[in-house]
Amino acid sequence: MKTLIFASGNKGKIREAAEILEGQYEVISAAQAGFTEEVEETGTTFQENSLLKSQAIWDALGRDCFSDDSGLEVDALNGAPGIYSARYAGLDKDFQHNIDKVLAQMEGVTNRRARFRCCVTLMLDGTPHFFDGTLEGEIGLERRGNGGFGYDPIFIPDILAPGVPNSQRLSISEISEEAKNQISHRGVALRLMAEYLKKQA
Ligand code: IMP
Repeated sequence: MKTLIFASGNKGKIREAAEILEGQYEVISAAQAGFTEEVEETGTTFQENSLLKSQAIWDALGRDCFSDDSGLEVDALNGAPGIYSARYAGLDKDFQHNIDKVLAQMEGVTNRRARFRCCVTLMLDGTPHFFDGTLEGEIGLERRGNGGFGYDPIFIPDILAPGVPNSQRLSISEISEEAKNQISHRGVALRLMAEYLKKQA
């Protein structure tokens, strides 16, 4: 089976991508492929930041790969935290303070509409292909649940599965990882990439 490098060190993401590409490609991490550099996210969009990671691997190893970049966009905050989602409160991946900041900014705000966005870059023979996914929802009034990561405890998705409304208003932290993968921005983008790869085979 052919191998694709996923420019990520996040075990959950690698597991999710491996499941989606099962039978099609073996997915290995950048570190497993011998690439351990931390790529700086200097772009101004999810697409630019996603491309930087795949481009770095292609430039270093000359091997097919894919990468993602994602974040939360809140309408009442003019799209923030956006590409700064991981370091919104100042420190990288300080999830608790990032959530505190969003909740504080959203205090008393009635328009709570938000979405997660993900852009996946697939680098084949040095040519990038882009796949986008979104998950629409709302920012909750407080944290709920223990699962997931990042902004999951305060994000209430519109749906619990394709076509199934979230009438209980559960946060992503209150649903299973499998359920999240079915609806997540990353899952949507990765499945579009998998369909594209199938057509190339
Ligand atoms: P990255 O694409 O892994 O660099 O994600 C950037 C940041 O966006 C993360 O550190 C989280 O704060 C946020 N984020 C992206 N996807 C999710 C998600 O599925 N749940 C919660 N937060 C997310």
